[in-house]
This record gives sequence, structure tokens and C-alpha cells, in this order.
Amino acid sequence: MRAAVLENEKFIIKEIEKPILKNNQQGAIVKVIGCGLCGSDIVKIRDGKAKNGDVLGHEVVGNIVEINTNTKFNVGDKIVLGHHIPCFNCLYCWNENYSMCRHFKSTNILPGGFSEYIYVSEEHLENTVFNVNLNLPDTEAAFMEPLACCIRAVKRADVKPESKNLIIGLGTIGILMGEALTAFGHKAAGCDLKSKRVELAKKYGFDETFVTQNNEEEALKTMKIYAPYGFDNVFLTAGASKTIDFALKSVRDGGKIIVFSSVKDNNGFSDNQIYYRELTVMGSYSPSPMDLEDSINLIEKGSVKVSELSTIYNLSEINQAIEDTLTNRIMKAFIKI
Ligand SMILES: [Zn+2]
Ligand SMILES: [Zn+2]
Repeated sequence: MRAAVLENEKFIIKEIEKPILKNNQQGAIVKVIGCGLCGSDIVKIRDGKAKNGDVLGHEVVGNIVEINTNTKFNVGDKIVLGHHIPCFNCLYCWNENYSMCRHFKSTNILPGGFSEYIYVSEEHLENTVFNVNLNLPDTEAAFMEPLACCIRAVKRADVKPESKNLIIGLGTIGILMGEALTAFGHKAAGCDLKSKRVELAKKYGFDETFVTQNNEEEALKTMKIYAPYGFDNVFLTAGASKTIDFALKSVRDGGKIIVFSSVKDNNGFSDNQIYYRELTVMGSYSPSPMDLEDSINLIEKGSVKVSELSTIYNLSEINQAIEDTLTNRIMKAFIKI
């Protein structure tokens, strides 16, 4: 079967072995319809965490073509999935840090979603695979996993109804975070360096948006009109180190900064502000099975809008899709297999 295989930081389209269900093995073989390109795929390549020979991709939409299971799933089902599964019975799971669970980290689909077929285990079918409505466009179904990550961040932040919430960075994840907040009845304000992104975000139900380019002080002044004390919760979805500084300037004393992206070279919070200003800084990483379920429900109900965010690429164009993502030419790439 064809797959995009990593070789020296680029993908090469190659023939690799198709996964099969060996003698009575439980699980399913899924024919991949398409797979979203996640920022984390790009970060894994950048940081050398992905190795030569790896097949990446986890935001899969596909059809079950072979199955041996005790679950409700059947051949022909159209599904979306989460690739990691918590054990629900360890110190991390008991404390709801599901993505820290060692079992979570050790489970995966085989190979990644940038290939024609994948194997999903019985445990995936039991916990992290969901049927999708046949009428739901594939590009929209593929948002289940990234939206679930945002839902998790909103839940972890324990946002109050009256909270003023700011999202720094209005790329796809920033927009999904805003949609997750508003879907749960919360307020969402957003800011970005680029006015083009801010204009786009306005279509997605943000209460207020701010352009920060060249005029950070001016933006902070306008923000003070909306949130006089500063923001209760600041969601950091942009991976540039200077955004940490901006998060510190926009959060209120006693407020919360939710770190939702890997920042390349600087994780520093300057001047002991966490201590003196009694700030809470928390991370949110990857979704739980419950977040995945909430996510697909919201997408199917149309409570979040994702239809205009994707650009479709063929598997052979995957390197171009990465390039276009990195240069902000597109919002989100959907790789059609
Ligand atoms: Zn993802
Ligand atoms: Zn666990």
C-alpha cells in the first residue's frame, strides 16, 4: 500500500506493507479516506522526535474494511478516532491526567494516517473510535481530534461563566479554542499579529478581537476596555516565545495562563511574576476519550463551524501541505489518501 514515509525531514511516497488482522487477532483494518495535518506532526519533524521511516498522521477519517471485534462496529462503518488510549486505572488516570498515563503514551494506530490502511486495536474500538454520520463531510469529521484537545483545555481551565478569556494566536487551534469556549457558553476574545487572521476569526463567534502587530501597547489599551482587570484566562496557542510575554501582560493578577503549544526556545516566565502576581500556569496536552466524544457531538450538531478551515491535498502533495501551513498560506491541511 502507499504511505508517506519520513526520510530526512521530508515525506517520500512509498509502497509499504499493508496491515492485516493475523489469525483471530482482534481489532479492525481501516481504509483511510483522509487525515488532517496536525501542528504536532510538524513539531515532531522539527524537533527530531519523528525518525526516518516513520509514518505520521493521527486525525484520521476512514471506513472499516475488515473487523474482528466484540464492539458495536461493523465493516462499512465510517469512523473517526483518537490514537492514544488511557488505562483509566493508574495514578495519572485517577487524577484525570489521562494524557500522562503511560499506557496512553504507548498506544497508537499502525502505521500513521498518512497511508492507505491502518490497524486499530480492539482497545481503540472500545474507547476512542466513533461512528460518524455519512452526511458529515470528511474534512469536517477530521476536526474531531484537534477540537477535542481544545475542549480538554477549556475543561482543565475550569472557566467560570463571567470569565473574560483571551486566546493568543488565531490559527486553526486558536479558532477551535474560541469555538470550544463559546460552545460551552463562555466568552472568547482573540488576538493575533496578523490582521488577516483576526478578520477570519471574527466569523467564528469571538466576542472581541484584537490585532497586536506593531502596536502591542495600543492593543493592550483596547483590551483594557474589554477586560479592565486583564483576562481571567489566557490561552496560549501560538508557539512563539514572545507570546509568553504578551500572556503575562494581558492576564489579570491572580489569573490563569493555559499553555497549549510547544514554544521553541523559551519557556521562561520573567520577573517572578508567577509568584508575585499569584498566577496559575497550566498545560493542556492531548484529549481524553470523553473529550473526543464531546467533540464529535459538537461537530455533528453544527455547534462549531469548521467547514471553511480546510484545504485539501493529495497524499503526494504532503510536503507542499507542510510548507503552506508553515508559511500561513492555509489554515488546515486535509490529506486525501
Ligand atoms: Zn492533532
Ligand atoms: Zn492510566
